[in-house]
Amino acid sequence: MPKYIFVTGGVVSSLGKGVASASIGKLLEAKGLKVTLIKCDPYINVDPGTMNPYQHGEVYVTDDGAETDLDLGHYERFTNARVGKDNNITTGKIYHSVISKERKGEYLGKTVQVIPHITDEIKENIRKVSRFSRLDVVIVEIGGTVGDIESLPFLEAIRQIILEEGRNNAINIHLTLVPYIKSADEIKTKPTQHSVGRLREIGIQPDILLCRSGESLNNEVREKIALFCNIEKDAVIQALDVENIYEIPLIFKNEHLDELIIRKLHMKCRQGNLSAWQKAVERIKSPSAEVLIAVVGKYITHQDAYKSIYEALIHGGIANDAKVNIKKLDSENISKNGGEKYLRDVQGILVPGGFGHRGIEGKIKAARYARENRIPFLGICLGMQVAVIEFARDVCDFKKANSTEFNKKTPHPVISLLEEQKKIKIKGGTMRLGAYRCELKPGTKSYKAYGKEVIWERHRHRYEFNNKYKKVFVKKGMIISGISPSKNLVEIMEIKEHPWFAACQFHPEFKSKPDRAHPLFRDFVKASLRGLQL
Ligand code: GLN
Repeated sequence: MPKYIFVTGGVVSSLGKGVASASIGKLLEAKGLKVTLIKCDPYINVDPGTMNPYQHGEVYVTDDGAETDLDLGHYERFTNARVGKDNNITTGKIYHSVISKERKGEYLGKTVQVIPHITDEIKENIRKVSRFSRLDVVIVEIGGTVGDIESLPFLEAIRQIILEEGRNNAINIHLTLVPYIKSADEIKTKPTQHSVGRLREIGIQPDILLCRSGESLNNEVREKIALFCNIEKDAVIQALDVENIYEIPLIFKNEHLDELIIRKLHMKCRQGNLSAWQKAVERIKSPSAEVLIAVVGKYITHQDAYKSIYEALIHGGIANDAKVNIKKLDSENISKNGGEKYLRDVQGILVPGGFGHRGIEGKIKAARYARENRIPFLGICLGMQVAVIEFARDVCDFKKANSTEFNKKTPHPVISLLEEQKKIKIKGGTMRLGAYRCELKPGTKSYKAYGKEVIWERHRHRYEFNNKYKKVFVKKGMIISGISPSKNLVEIMEIKEHPWFAACQFHPEFKSKPDRAHPLFRDFVKASLRGLQL
């Protein structure tokens, strides 16, 4: 039977519960334990796949094709856990399942209620994850802030699990804020006391408190928090603000959080260490070089909309012992004013994924700027599609080439829908999603990056490269370097006469880690650094 750690959050949102949960996972793995992580999201959407990135940030895609919360990205970046559709539980998913059971008559005439039917469904979904794999610890993050109406059924479900499993097998770690008030020159514990009070009212006594703070907590403050929150003093852990999130497992380790959890859950640990992680953090702190890379998108004002892209660029930097500075550019500005004004000073250009017509011409101009000025380019999903449109218009002279997503009547639909996608009317979960096999062409830059012929990468799109144009494009200098064998789809393209120009239909950013940068990001950053030396 696995042990359970329930991570809740109090006082304010955005304290970094996802990163804290992932860091706990990392620490336990470094003790030789096998972990997985689950995110419970209290909203009524079945998944975030239909939400605007401004509302929700990035949609993180798993190997099994689930569109999930971006915290699952932190889980996979920090730990070896392979997460999938069962690792993201939403209120929408829970109600969907309970209502369909009710329609089938499975509740045998009973009145269907939040307690026990919704809470039972939540408990079953949490326990299901460990049923077929041997796990030591399941870490469950509850989204939202304690006190929100929406999260109550989830909190009630974890209260029940703690009772059923026993306190030696299931604990609550509560993340809270301990602010410094300048005018009083004091650290305040009251918000923490109140949020723990809310938890205790509903029957949950935290076992460990992670206190986010800009200032270090002295003995007196720790004693006060312990007394008022009914917690051991050494279970008051300070979580000081850090410059980069990858330091968090290390600062938790300094606070002996790993030993505390192991003691509370009565676990025996095995061999493991944090040395590769430590090395990656050291490289972030003292890089040997710097490089400026542009990310040309339309959601650049939202810091989480391209979360995995920004993280993968940092990883590419770590692999090259360099700091990647990111220039976030609004593609609509490039549409209006052209690329030169914004892209003159950058050493690499990345165009990420996206949907809809807005800003598309700016992305096409950015791809052209990279091609003509021989600046390293990485196009991802929509980024590949715009590179193809650009190549069609300027190199192949199909002036009106486009994707049918943006112009249904284009005379040159170089990006278009497959027959099977044309029939689809429902939006949620109907794109080409999840991991697909891709075969690489030896001798290409992509093959060189991966160092192997067969790769598996994750997808989230409807439109595809139109194979009717393959022959002309290849004749004009495009290299098709990756093909999906099952449907003969173009997965990666390169440009022959260019120092480093690669664009892929899949999303490599979802599989990059700080101590194992994704090969395409690693080589893209490397090529950008090389440009700097020329
Ligand atoms: N809008 C494009 C498509 O659906 C690209 C999607 C993406 O970039 N994720 O194919």
